[in-house]
Amino acid sequence: MDAPWHGLAHCPECNALHTSSKCPICGHVLDLTPHRITVDDVEHVIPAATQGAIPWSTFVILQQIRLERERPLAAIDGAGGRPAQRLAIVILFWTLFEILMEGFFRAAFADLPGELADELLQRFPSIGGRLDRLYKRTWGMTFWADLEAGGFAEDAKHLRLVQERRNAFIHGDPEAIDDALVEATLARLETVQRGWIQLFNKRCTGRDKRIALWQVDQRSRT
Ligand SMILES: [Zn+2]
Repeated sequence: MDAPWHGLAHCPECNALHTSSKCPICGHVLDLTPHRITVDDVEHVIPAATQGAIPWSTFVILQQIRLERERPLAAIDGAGGRPAQRLAIVILFWTLFEILMEGFFRAAFADLPGELADELLQRFPSIGGRLDRLYKRTWGMTFWADLEAGGFAEDAKHLRLVQERRNAFIHGDPEAIDDALVEATLARLETVQRGWIQLFNKRCTGRDKRIALWQVDQRSRT
């Protein structure tokens, strides 16, 4: 479930997300030489470590999705899978995606002067406008087209379906989220995250100012 994040760290040079000692985007090589410290005349060797890239919010939401997936279903006669007993999985998934996209735009707009990044995001407050018009004005194509171009067409399709059903749900149609959508969301959970990480590396790296994903979490708590 959180496998796409295992061993993932931000490149200290270009902000890319990757797991290797050499950045696949800018070629920066991490110095993984162990540190040697001496305490009371005894030398200790401490392996070099890098901070993991997974934001706390992502970790917590994925944990909640796992708990919900493992929760036994209640016996309800005639429910027929509509709405899904585990519909919270779809709501959590979309929340996770929206939070990740906040980090995406923050990292991508890191070099914009003054308050311009804030102003742009305020001008496009909804996720729909950000993925469509804001993304297109910035990179010449929608987020969906970019995700498809990267080989994640089925994931783009699923995200759009979740967006549509989730909107229907919050506007008074609880049956919009059914068992099939929950199952499809669980099946797509990892590839959606992998596609998102690939796009982050394509669109959010190489800025002078680097904004890590975990910094965006901290911003929103202050
Ligand atoms: Zn790099």
